[in-house]
Amino acid sequence: MNALAATSRNFKQAAKLLGLDSKLEKSLLIPFREIKVECTIPKDDGTLASFVGFRVQHDNARGPMKGGIRYHHEVDPDEVNALAQLMTWKTAVANIPYGGAKGGIGCTPGKLSKSELERLTRVFTQKIHDLIGIHTDVPAPDMGTNSQTMAWILDEYSKFHGYSPAVVTGKPVDLGGSLGREAATGRGVLFATEVLLEEHGKRLEDQRFVIQGFGNVGSWAAQLISEAGGQVIAVSDVTGAIKNSKGLNIKELLKHSSENHGIRGFTGGEPIDPGSLLIEDCDVLIPAALGGVINRENANDIKAKFIVEAANHPTDPEADEILSKKGVVILPDIYANSGGVTVSYFEWVQNIQGFMWDEEKVNAELRTYIIRAFNNMKEMCKTYNCDLRMGAFTLGVNRVARATVLRGWEA
Ligand code: GLU
Repeated sequence: MNALAATSRNFKQAAKLLGLDSKLEKSLLIPFREIKVECTIPKDDGTLASFVGFRVQHDNARGPMKGGIRYHHEVDPDEVNALAQLMTWKTAVANIPYGGAKGGIGCTPGKLSKSELERLTRVFTQKIHDLIGIHTDVPAPDMGTNSQTMAWILDEYSKFHGYSPAVVTGKPVDLGGSLGREAATGRGVLFATEVLLEEHGKRLEDQRFVIQGFGNVGSWAAQLISEAGGQVIAVSDVTGAIKNSKGLNIKELLKHSSENHGIRGFTGGEPIDPGSLLIEDCDVLIPAALGGVINRENANDIKAKFIVEAANHPTDPEADEILSKKGVVILPDIYANSGGVTVSYFEWVQNIQGFMWDEEKVNAELRTYIIRAFNNMKEMCKTYNCDLRMGAFTLGVNRVARATVLRGWEA
């Protein structure tokens, strides 16, 4: 099932549980605004290259729209739409005063030089600068983008509107970025996993983890989980997959990966088929890469007891059904990976206040938000007698619906 169909299906199920008015339901589903722009840049060799960029602004009932910008060859309008919608529910689950948006450019960042990426980012910003802003829409990094990308967007935006660091989050710390932002999604995954395991009477130290993806989210999650005493037994990235049943040395793996542009060739474990990583025997499976990876093809073979969705929409609704029958507990994306956007919110607050927090404060506040959202989600599970995904969706959708109704419809 494609990402948009899957996300909309989850939304509709939540709307039904909440008994939402059908007109309200329809208006919550349709994006506020969809932007599609053409970006042509001169390449380093003098030839021209054209790319298509998107920004979908899904909903702003609870505040400025918020979400990352993704550079990936699979970026398409439906997926950006689904990801924007997920951001609306995610910011509401985290209870931060934002709506949801997502952007992307269909490109292969690894095949572009740094100066080509800079030109592409600046052209994209020139095309959307009038539609983003501190109180309208605040981009951030996502797959294939990073703090440098945000620095270029900030610089280009500032040429039109004056210096405005709060227009993007996930910036370099030297430009007003928040301490702890880079690790935030991974740290949120750790806190969310801890609270889930505690609820099931289990200790993180006794669990074996498998992590798909070793980019920003996966590598930070692996590092923080192993520092907290969890055993990471298998990891994959685009270059391959590696396993060590006694536990991988994540510090060594990080060093290897940064020196070799990937985990392939790491000698502290044996290479395995990346296709079989998700069905490895483990306690906790953490998909931290692309969407749709857990589907009806592999759901039956999954051996993990818990799945923590560090990626966005990694589990197809068909797989959800199969896994729930097997008793697998899934911590849904709009809760499990909300640490990134939560610390983005702290960054925006610090920029607006003009006051920088120390890292301990950032991490302690993040923990508070993650634990509070877990308790709120569990209350919805009780009220509607539903699983954690529907607990998170009903929580998020209900908050957005309430804000929408309160703001009213009069033109
Ligand atoms: N791209 C991240 C996400 O999917 C972070 C978004 C943000 O910080 O605005 O949640």
